[in-house]
Amino acid sequence: MVYKIKRLFFISLLFAVSVAISEKKLVEIKFNDITDVQKLVDLNIDLDHHRTFNSVHAFVSNGEFDIISKLNFEIEYIPNQARIYYEELKENTQNSRNPMEDYHNYVELTDFLEDIATNYPDITHLKSIGQSVQGRELWVMEISDNPGTNEIEPEFKYVANMHGDETVGRELSLYLIEWLVSGYGNNQRATDLINNTDIFIMPTMNPDGFENGSRYNANGVDLNRDFPDQFSDPNNTTMGRQPETRAVMEWSWDQHFVLSANMHTGALVANYPFDGPNSGVYSASPDDDLFVHISLAYADAHPDMASGGFSNGITNGAQWYAVSGGMQDWNYVWESDCDITLEQNEVKFPNSNQLPGLWEDHREPMLVYLEEVHDGVRGVITDIDSGEPLNANISIQGIDHDIFPDPENGDYYRLLTPGTYTISASVFGYLTESATVTVPITGYVEQNFTLSLDPWLAEAEIEDFEEGIFSDLGWGFDGSANWATDNTVVFEGNYSVKSGNINENEESSMSIELDVIEDGQISFYKKVSCESTGSVTGNYYDYLAFFIDGVEIDKWAGEIDWSLESFPVNAGIHTFKWLFIKDGGVTSGSDAAWVDYIVLPPISTNEECGSGDINGDEINNVLDVVLLVNCILGSECETCQADINQDETVNVLDVVLLVNSILN
Ligand code: ZN
Repeated sequence: MVYKIKRLFFISLLFAVSVAISEKKLVEIKFNDITDVQKLVDLNIDLDHHRTFNSVHAFVSNGEFDIISKLNFEIEYIPNQARIYYEELKENTQNSRNPMEDYHNYVELTDFLEDIATNYPDITHLKSIGQSVQGRELWVMEISDNPGTNEIEPEFKYVANMHGDETVGRELSLYLIEWLVSGYGNNQRATDLINNTDIFIMPTMNPDGFENGSRYNANGVDLNRDFPDQFSDPNNTTMGRQPETRAVMEWSWDQHFVLSANMHTGALVANYPFDGPNSGVYSASPDDDLFVHISLAYADAHPDMASGGFSNGITNGAQWYAVSGGMQDWNYVWESDCDITLEQNEVKFPNSNQLPGLWEDHREPMLVYLEEVHDGVRGVITDIDSGEPLNANISIQGIDHDIFPDPENGDYYRLLTPGTYTISASVFGYLTESATVTVPITGYVEQNFTLSLDPWLAEAEIEDFEEGIFSDLGWGFDGSANWATDNTVVFEGNYSVKSGNINENEESSMSIELDVIEDGQISFYKKVSCESTGSVTGNYYDYLAFFIDGVEIDKWAGEIDWSLESFPVNAGIHTFKWLFIKDGGVTSGSDAAWVDYIVLPPISTNEECGSGDINGDEINNVLDVVLLVNCILGSECETCQADINQDETVNVLDVVLLVNSILN
């Protein structure tokens, strides 16, 4: 397992292609005040992990170099140590070296993983989650007592080497894989971890970058700036992103990770969310206590992490330097997954003879961090009648960050620091359940929830379009094209309704007028796939809007998957309208909106029975008596109105009652 360039002749060929993309060069930038770093962030400069109180390393193009110089920063090119060592390894293939002392190139890494999968088939599952720009497999090793099965166990992931020239984590993750599988059945700790956790390890997210000695992927993109970002790019979509980023996003959507970390080098620190928006300013997430706790768990287990220049070996991301499009914030904000960024060594691409020492230092921290996935509160959420798993919102009083269970089994894992909490499980249409739980110092407390249907929903009128047509409630349409039922994209059942196929500067609306008989609410599920709002202005261009009585209540744009909306409605006659509208210019996504499962407010569906107004003219008179008599004699009649005493039979007694009611 040595760095054999000869085996990589075809990769060298690819490398020749990739250098066509002008490589940014490493610089040191000096500044007087920490807040000056924000100026560099605003310029979208690729800051590297190394930073002191008056300098930072960055990768810049020639143009950026000039701009930064003109802003009165002191800037100079510095040797790129990782690049130099990479070139040296390329020059000197050292076939005789001990494998533990060497880096695994792509071919060797693939061989290593395939060997593990072959030798430990019962506890491993190797799969590729996609290909890099240059066609290398993006390997993920799953380690579990039932690999490939979604068990009621927390899912954990380590991702390494997303910056191709940050190589330590790539090797450490291979050693960790080996340590875990070889300890199964003979080392209690490894056995417990594998029996109780679904562990996923991705040794390299950027195999092209490693092979090319570059931070970037083969398209010259920094993958840790390529994810959706809550501040600058709040669209949780893979559109426009790199193949490596897309693969990790889609993989994360398939899994249900609870805890994870991504491994870097260039500093020695555990870095936690949020990564933005402003450099030098602490940006706490709602789970700040938890992030400090799990970051310290890693740092405290390392013999020397506090020597990296950060207090206790940890830092808030933005306080260090702001990153937009980073992976850790994406995992937390969108995926219910607590992710931190581990900087494992100040030298990015250290001499391979340091790898055994680095493994000694980081083995315990990596294991301790992995074990953190078993702290907090966990349980299963099911329907009380059917026992089916429910996709509930799990919320903790006082922490503004809900998480979701694994939809397949209904199992949830809410990581929390030790203490007492009020936890609630809520699902649309069910009565919310809450409980008080005490999270122990180590380990977890179990809290299952069995939810029952809300009686309100059980009695409500629901328009779910399951007949494949609009119901006879009196739907109306307007605009350039009508909404229509759709059986390809649905929230539930077989049908939803989709906005009409419209062009630029057109609109498509559907509406319904209802006589609401008591105060209540209207709820529906919507899905949108169209141009996003302006990333800076927040302006809406193409969007779905919902109106009550001609007043716009809310609107949505971009890529939004099925999600619930609920709005209060007072008794009275109201018009509800759903409008999809496009301006000129950009077309994006499916360019449409969908609505499904509308739960209507209480409405008068049937007229009251037994009124005696047989002909429906709103007056009870002798004509109704005649009709009622004929009804008894055998003519067709409206039984509902004719059955005055509601005994389910229309007979002479009803005639007597009707006559008396008219005479009175
Ligand atoms: Zn990095």
